[in-house]
Amino acid sequence: MIPLSEPALHGRELEYVADCLQSGWVSSNGEYIDRLERALAEYVGVDHAVACNCGTSALHVSLILSGVHANHEVIVPAITFIAPVNAVRYVGAFPVFIGCDEYCGMDVSSVRHFLAEECSSVDGFTVNKATGRRVSAIIPVHVFGTPADMDAVLALADAHGLAVIEDASEALGSAYKGRKCGGLAALACLSFNGNKIVTSGGGGAILTNDDALAEGARYLTTQAKEAGIEYVHHAVGYNYRMNNLLAALGLAQLETIEERVATKRANFAVYERTLGPTGAGQLLQQPAWSDANRWFYAYLCADAPAKDKLLRTCLASDIQVRPLWYPNHLQTPYVGMQAYQVGRALWFYERLVNLPCSVTLAPDEIAVVVAAIEACRSAT
Ligand SMILES: *Cc1c(COP(=O)(O)O)cnc(C)c1O
Repeated sequence: MIPLSEPALHGRELEYVADCLQSGWVSSNGEYIDRLERALAEYVGVDHAVACNCGTSALHVSLILSGVHANHEVIVPAITFIAPVNAVRYVGAFPVFIGCDEYCGMDVSSVRHFLAEECSSVDGFTVNKATGRRVSAIIPVHVFGTPADMDAVLALADAHGLAVIEDASEALGSAYKGRKCGGLAALACLSFNGNKIVTSGGGGAILTNDDALAEGARYLTTQAKEAGIEYVHHAVGYNYRMNNLLAALGLAQLETIEERVATKRANFAVYERTLGPTGAGQLLQQPAWSDANRWFYAYLCADAPAKDKLLRTCLASDIQVRPLWYPNHLQTPYVGMQAYQVGRALWFYERLVNLPCSVTLAPDEIAVVVAAIEACRSAT
């Protein structure tokens, strides 16, 4: 079997986890949490990292810290893993779904049009004319590890008074115009889920340069407990902190990030070379501003039947491929919510297949995947 994306645990994972077990500090305090947070902040180039129990909880807390309240609206991509969309609902706000640019990221020109044509300024707030609700934030997602056009997003957000939460869950190791993803907005979120480029088994982080936001993130993720020996809470908090055992695993993973990113990029190049240029199908490219970590490889089929055929052929021969995430505006909880210029999102959904992309992927395995793709191409 050729897995889609399996973890590679070839560094000091066992050593650190064993050390953690021997120390007895396996829960919500311990040196590995501090070390992981420091290493993350240093790697991305931000002042603070607050480790969380998953990326979704990092997004939830970031929305609260950004002042997103119930019945606000938050601009999100139609095509992304659903986590940021669900987090919007956790605070009682509503998503506004935006379609794709040519790289499968959120189309910033659609965001611009949405804000210009569909919204108006009321008492200094941006209000969606169709719903009467305040639009208070935007969550750009670096889909597949390819950076969104953050300068354009930040300029729009600035002009319309929106908070920006950078969902860099897929983009640890990616750079935008030479700057590391995860450090491009007031708040950014990471995920260390099992298929991410760095995993702690499960986990996430909130990154920021703002001292008060970092303090707020620590407070809310630890049940909003005030400092001191008394159990006093002045807000509704959450049990969202990472534990030391998982931090030990995550730290060992982070220590080898440069190799992982290099391997992801090298394997992408091998796919690209062996697939060759063709009109019948191709790997999704990256924009000029991007130096992507190539977390996920996206192969664009000629049409929907070609995609179905490739999925069936590969799965029948134990090659783990998968279709693009189903468009979020069509998911059951989100049917009927506003979806703006989502034509290309559907177009991508009909054509896109994610190919095996593990760091452990061997050249002969890539050859097997490419042979399967070529067999499908020549049969159509
Ligand atoms: C993985 C991921 C998350 C967070 O997922 P968790 O499993 O909660 O860590 C958030 N956003 C995106 C875009 C993701 O890919």
